[in-house]
Amino acid sequence: MNIKISDLSKVYSNGNKALNNINLEIESGMLGLLGPNGAGKSTLMRIMATLMLPSSGKVTVNDFDLVKHRKEIRTMLGYLPQDFGSFSKLTTWEFLDYSASLAGLKKKSKRSDEVEKMLQSVGLFKFRDRLANKLSGGMKRRLGIAQALIGDPKIVIVDEPTTGLDPEERIRFRNLLSDMSREEIIIILSTHIVGDISSTCSKMALLQNGELMFQGTPNSLVEKAKGHVFRIMAYDSDLNLLKEKYPVISTIPVDDSWEVELVADNLNGYEGKEIAPNLEHAYIYFVEYLLPEMTSERNNSNW
Ligand code: ADP
Repeated sequence: MNIKISDLSKVYSNGNKALNNINLEIESGMLGLLGPNGAGKSTLMRIMATLMLPSSGKVTVNDFDLVKHRKEIRTMLGYLPQDFGSFSKLTTWEFLDYSASLAGLKKKSKRSDEVEKMLQSVGLFKFRDRLANKLSGGMKRRLGIAQALIGDPKIVIVDEPTTGLDPEERIRFRNLLSDMSREEIIIILSTHIVGDISSTCSKMALLQNGELMFQGTPNSLVEKAKGHVFRIMAYDSDLNLLKEKYPVISTIPVDDSWEVELVADNLNGYEGKEIAPNLEHAYIYFVEYLLPEMTSERNNSNW
């Protein structure tokens, strides 16, 4: 599977610029699309799910044009929107059965088998007769992923899937997605939570103000932060200064002082121990130090 996004932009009718000239190639596997609220993630997801037209640019899926070949692309697609969760008066089973028929599973016996299998794999089989509206938030999300995955889609798009889930549900959900992430399918997961990406995604893309600021493996982002994450022991008086100067990741009280973990370009005289960055550190280093440089370079080159 291959998705190619070329020079893609979206301006809403009220003039909001949501995406600006995005270029991205997506291969089989799981891609994490990371960015703060308002970055343009949902807009990109809705365009990819053929629910909205771009203002300009092009998306191809295995050489099918997203705009010209909507029908073909929709048969390959499973989509979990951010606001998934209203089911009228259907039971869990009926809802998934209906989703399966929309996904092209016309034969009743085959559909039944698939619905049962999918309910088992998301842990909802014993709730099959419960009204879907009466499921808990986490269960609704699981039903959401089940309806996105039923019918063997080749592209699965999930928008902020872990929002509102407790930590245990979040981990279950991630595991479920990574179990599904087989060789020949593309899963695109959008999130503003770094932890959603680190454990599951082989590739990531970072959106900010409608622009694609980074694409690559999570490890390659982590590499960029090497030598820029420190652990410092600080007294109360220093702690506030450090917080003013640097993005502080954590502060742990130790005896009469604090163990502070922070991200910095350099420590400017403070004594600290360099520590190995994780993806959260790397994201913060990127956003706080590398992005401003990139943005000012772009602005300068526009002059
Ligand atoms: P994210 O999913 O990263 O939070 P969105 O794609 O929802 O970002 O939003 C990107 C930008 O587009 C924001 O500035 C948002 O206010 C704007 N936007 C989103 N949806 C609409 C809409 N239907 N009409 C006008 N502006 C919109």
